[in-house]
Amino acid sequence: MQNYSLFSLARNALTGHKNWQKAWRSAPLKEAYEVIIIGAGGHGLATAYYLAKEFGITNVAVLERGWLGGGNVARNTVTVRSNYLRDQSIPFYVKSVSLYEGLTKDLNFNMMHSKRTMVDVVLNYPKMRDLRRRQLTMDIYGSTYEQITVDEVRNIIPALTGGGPQSRLPIIGGMVHKDAGVNRHDAVAWGYARAADALGVEMHQQTAVTALLRAENGDIQGVETVKGTVKAKKVIVAVSGHTTSLTETAGLRLPLRTMNLTAFVSEPIKPIVDVIVNCSDLGFYFSQSDKGELVIGGAPDSGQSFRRDIKQHVFEDTVGAMLELFPSFKKLKLLRQWGGHLDIAPDASPIMDETSVSGLYVTAGWWGGYKAIPAGGLTMAHHVATNSPHPLMQAFSLNRFKNLDYILETGTTTAR
Ligand SMILES: Cc1cc2nc3c(=O)[nH]c(=O)nc-3n(C[C@H](O)[C@H](O)[C@H](O)COP(=O)(O)OP(=O)(O)OC[C@H]3O[C@@H](n4cnc5c(N)ncnc54)[C@H](O)[C@@H]3O)c2cc1C
Repeated sequence: MQNYSLFSLARNALTGHKNWQKAWRSAPLKEAYEVIIIGAGGHGLATAYYLAKEFGITNVAVLERGWLGGGNVARNTVTVRSNYLRDQSIPFYVKSVSLYEGLTKDLNFNMMHSKRTMVDVVLNYPKMRDLRRRQLTMDIYGSTYEQITVDEVRNIIPALTGGGPQSRLPIIGGMVHKDAGVNRHDAVAWGYARAADALGVEMHQQTAVTALLRAENGDIQGVETVKGTVKAKKVIVAVSGHTTSLTETAGLRLPLRTMNLTAFVSEPIKPIVDVIVNCSDLGFYFSQSDKGELVIGGAPDSGQSFRRDIKQHVFEDTVGAMLELFPSFKKLKLLRQWGGHLDIAPDASPIMDETSVSGLYVTAGWWGGYKAIPAGGLTMAHHVATNSPHPLMQAFSLNRFKNLDYILETGTTTAR
């Protein structure tokens, strides 16, 4: 792999940037691999990288129906945090955030990681109690949450001029999560792909998988693709909102629904807010990008859906909510809107497990799954390579639905 450094940048500048190596190869598709990963999103690519790096498994193909990093990994609002509620979740996300912090060095690719701090603006007492409860659990696992007063909220976010004592819902305080940050999403996909390729993993774009293939004994045998049959004894489904469409081809039913989540950005403006602002009481959050745009997200569309755009009423609800606290934003022009389809389990926690089809693994239910990419990839690779779940992901098994061992995180994401 060509090293990216100040020296290589200067050397390539002298030759007009014409001699950079391709970031990954386009190898011919083989008939069989040790492991097939379906989906070149964050989770698929990170799993491929850690399989090769940590476990020396390099006979791996990542099969992507579109282009690498064209799914939700490139459609999210890039927030990385570990303020979850349950004992099973927090250590997983603490690990993921810490891996993100070292990822630029690990992958030799600039992640543009920026530790921003998230401020939850709180408007009602039940919510404050809920977040205080989270704080106590988070304390145990080394994640930080700190309650602040209304004046402190306003000091940290001077643009927050609404929510005063006369307003419909006055602000009653805030919670500060210092571990939260943002990264460039494309860099996550490209960085993992480039590093995995350098270790021998193959990326195959425009290679949609149309069905999962089972052997006579019921085990997984490989996949059918638009380019023909490819065999493998281990297949990982990492296709985000499309999980059930694929697993149904192997006769499996999983407890997942696909829903639409959307975001939009404003025109670029001068620096106005240097933290991630989250107000779940009103249903919106935003941060300011390095380019100056406000990156704004809200609640999901209410029903199941494969939409990739935004419904007018979801957009209006989010804007209306934001203007209650930030009335000066009404002058802003909006530049773009988009959406993605994500799958979600009944308890809003991920599913990372080998299924009842031997050799078939799923990493799914990633509602707020961008922040989970490094830990998700590392622990999934561990499971596949060692045939036993990594302790950090053990609880995210499929069995929890049989045993009613839910890891209820509903409400700690924007999911209902
Ligand atoms: C608007 C929005 C905002 C979000 N904000 C945040 C946030 O701030 N923080 C956070 O943590 N998370 C956020 N998320 C969630 C996060 O983006 C997803 O949870 C995460 O990206 C999903 O995992 P992934 O990257 O592997 O998925 P994807 O990038 O979607 O990867 C799946 C890949 O599988 C491919 N695929 C599908 N079917 C097939 C097939 N049959 N054959 C081959 N390939 C196939 C797709 O083309 C896609 O490239 C947000 C999501 C959205 C939509």
